[in-house]
Amino acid sequence: MINIILFGPPGSGKGTQATKLAEKYELIHISTGDLFRYEMGNDTPLGLKAKEYISKGDLVPDSITIGMLENKLNKHPDSKGFILDGFPRTIAQSEALDEIYAKKNMAVKCLLALNVEDEELVKRLLERGKTSGRADDSDVNIIRNRIKVYGDETAPVYNYYDKQNLSKTINGVGTIEEIFDRLCTQIEA
Ligand code: ADP
Repeated sequence: MINIILFGPPGSGKGTQATKLAEKYELIHISTGDLFRYEMGNDTPLGLKAKEYISKGDLVPDSITIGMLENKLNKHPDSKGFILDGFPRTIAQSEALDEIYAKKNMAVKCLLALNVEDEELVKRLLERGKTSGRADDSDVNIIRNRIKVYGDETAPVYNYYDKQNLSKTINGVGTIEEIFDRLCTQIEA
């Protein structure tokens, strides 16, 4: 099984690359951001709760996020592996993921972190906001808060997996194909 964490700040291109990697390696792509947007779109209790945080650019609490992720993993018992996009985003989520995988005799194979500098992220997200319909992409203050939250709460996840020798940084600037090739090279290394 190949279980990959695609990591990086908001706007670093995780969603685009995760979709391509899932297709190439026949993995199940799970984006917690997409799962939340689906729930919000259907006005479910989970969606309404998540919206309180997402609209400000804050993280949805671990107590909500971890259960949602575990449910989704459980729906694919026969997969060849998972590519997680947007999870884990806290140390508590990382510890929970390791436990969930261990129960299934699975483990993280690698964490691939897309590296893009902050001003480029702001530019990309504002550009995406023009067409994505995402409220969290159209306000520069919310975008800056998401980048700050990434630095404060999410960046430590890189070190958490680095201690297990699983983290790799990939240059996230270039064409979609160039970045995809860099990721594939790492996965196959
Ligand atoms: P981006 O990577 O561009 O910020 P996502 O679609 O991954 O976008 O996430 C959108 C929002 O959903 C985040 O800003 C956060 O509020 C929430 N979210 C997504 N994944 C998680 C997670 N693992 N833990 C907590 N909140 C999350």
